[in-house]
Amino acid sequence: MALQVLFHLEFSPDDDPSEAFDLICDSFGAPESVREFARMLIAGVWSKRGELDKVIAQASRNWRIDRMTRVDRSILRMAVFEMMFVPDIPAKVSLDEAVELGKRSTASWITSTIRQSTRISRRLGREKMANNARYNPQELELKWQSFWENNNLFKCKEDTSKEKYYLLEMFPYPSGKIHIGHVRNYTIGDVVARYKRMCGKNVLHPMGWDAFGMPAENAAIENNTHPARWTYDNIAAMKAQLKRMGFSYDWDREVTTCNPDYYRWEQLIFLKMYERGLAYKKKTFVNWCDKCQTVLANEQVEEGCCWRHPDVEVSIKEMDSWFLKITHYAEEILDHCDKLPGWPERVITMQRNWIGKSHGAIIRFPMVQSDEVIEVFTTRQDTLFGATFMCLAPEHPLVKQIVRGRPQEREVLEFADRTLKMDRFLRTAEFTAKEGVFTGRH
Ligand SMILES: [Zn+2]
Repeated sequence: MALQVLFHLEFSPDDDPSEAFDLICDSFGAPESVREFARMLIAGVWSKRGELDKVIAQASRNWRIDRMTRVDRSILRMAVFEMMFVPDIPAKVSLDEAVELGKRSTASWITSTIRQSTRISRRLGREKMANNARYNPQELELKWQSFWENNNLFKCKEDTSKEKYYLLEMFPYPSGKIHIGHVRNYTIGDVVARYKRMCGKNVLHPMGWDAFGMPAENAAIENNTHPARWTYDNIAAMKAQLKRMGFSYDWDREVTTCNPDYYRWEQLIFLKMYERGLAYKKKTFVNWCDKCQTVLANEQVEEGCCWRHPDVEVSIKEMDSWFLKITHYAEEILDHCDKLPGWPERVITMQRNWIGKSHGAIIRFPMVQSDEVIEVFTTRQDTLFGATFMCLAPEHPLVKQIVRGRPQEREVLEFADRTLKMDRFLRTAEFTAKEGVFTGRH
């Protein structure tokens, strides 16, 4: 009824609201108790419409109030009026009512506008309604962030009455400054943490620093400082930035991987793995920069040169390296691929391919004029008699040995050296044409 009267007044603003009201109420045959409430609503909305329109205009900057449909405008005014001036109607009821009324037109827009209006009216307080509201992050965010901190709002305590929820995004490398990738990543996690907390879960949302990294040493040399100092200064700066973002971390749980109180556990795990033969040493080929005096990851080699020293060609060094025997767990991980509910099939397939389990046999080929044997793994031993040659990878330990003192020695070693410098992924990729040279051995 009230909507109909307000809608009518939109067309004929000079009509007397109470007269229009009586007319429409009669046609509805409404009882007096309902009339009373509707009369109050209409009188209120109509007399305060200037004030209400200001709130609505602030809440939906992209819409102009004079360009809304009359129905939308009337619904909005009614809901905002109830929210601001009728304290015994909860905002949720006004909102539901408005959405119900607006369903045939633009319910989602009305919902968001009303929600905004609720926020704005709460912030301003009713008497300040007419003032222009401005969002002041320095004032508002710092106020609430210090309130959260002083009240230990995000501290996670043991509480068996609540369901546990552990949320860890990832620990950043303390490079010195938070970048927009961090902001994006940690904002997504924070939204989840806050949502789960609101759902009544006991949320543990920690933060820490992946603080052992090769760049630390080089940065320290460049800045003429100690790597520890450089690292801890960076952590302090980045922590301040994360705090200013207002993320809901329990900072009492902070870990820093270069702290002895953290890495003693890594060392313990490593020793346990070593004792059980799961950590072992093996010679392997690594990328080496003479200027950095360090090993480089494949991603740090750019067009054959060091990423930090474009004038220094990366050499391939054979070095002792530590390996973890993850193949030992291939079967177990594979079995568990079938026990991951809700995982996309695509990801499960990638996981299976990565584990790369295949059934086959190791064939041992004896070498002519030598005691050496070359072992080849094949899944197709039935095709063995069709084999015409076999290839050794450039890093194969036999390569140097079997060409020693032979006419092919120089050509083979040069080829191996050149191939080893190629990107390992590209070298073995399907689309790369395969090259090789004859070793002279059979
Ligand atoms: Zn370098």
